[in-house]
Amino acid sequence: MTFRASILTLYPDMFPGPLGMSLAGEALANQKWSLEVKNIRDHSLGNHRTVDDRPAGGGPGMVLRADVLAAAIDAVSAPDDPRPRLLMSPRGRPFTQGEARLLSEGPGLVIVCGRFEGVDQRVIEARGLQEVSIGDFVLSGGEIAATAILDSIVRLLPGVMGHDHSGTEESFENGLLEYPHYTKPREFEGLTIPDILTSGDHAKVAAWRQAQSLALTEERRPDLIAHMKKR
Ligand code: SAH
Repeated sequence: MTFRASILTLYPDMFPGPLGMSLAGEALANQKWSLEVKNIRDHSLGNHRTVDDRPAGGGPGMVLRADVLAAAIDAVSAPDDPRPRLLMSPRGRPFTQGEARLLSEGPGLVIVCGRFEGVDQRVIEARGLQEVSIGDFVLSGGEIAATAILDSIVRLLPGVMGHDHSGTEESFENGLLEYPHYTKPREFEGLTIPDILTSGDHAKVAAWRQAQSLALTEERRPDLIAHMKKR
């Protein structure tokens, strides 16, 4: 069973974009996952192809209509579709590596990209959309968030990253930030590689990396350490 992604957007030309290149693009070409992109505007109303309207209660901007979005969702996802439906939203739960790994083990995803001020609350409830955010900042649309989320999932799919890299040593996978990396040349602008890394002593290297990870996380992301202690 391959991972199936369906994306609903007003800007279908933004896809596959980065997802068509490098690791994700090769996996797409090799059918390790599939991507369906649908234009929400195909379900617009009337001659003017309307998809949005003024917010009830007044205020700035426009809101994506519930009926238009629901029709677009129903065209790609039947009620018994097992795939989670995510709505890209700055007020959603923060997306994490843990969720990326969980989703990579599932059947796929339906992703709704918002635009304008957002979407009518009733379609969120009526179609069981889970609001997910990629960070505490506001994008102009959900497409970049959808691209980021899918990229993080696709690289974890079986056979995508290759045998030499399981992905389990990376930042967040063990709750910590990753240790620093070095490669050739041995000396760069007077800066050398820490001796331990060239000592050939694998146990010492592992211990050094673990200590670096911990120190870096304590310095940059104490919240991650606090989160680990709670678990
Ligand atoms: N008025 C909204 C912001 C709308 S931004 C608010 O204050 O919450 C327009 C669209 O961009 C959103 O509907 C969402 O789909 C997307 N978007 C913006 N920031 C995002 C983020 N941090 N994570 C995920 N999606 C985001």
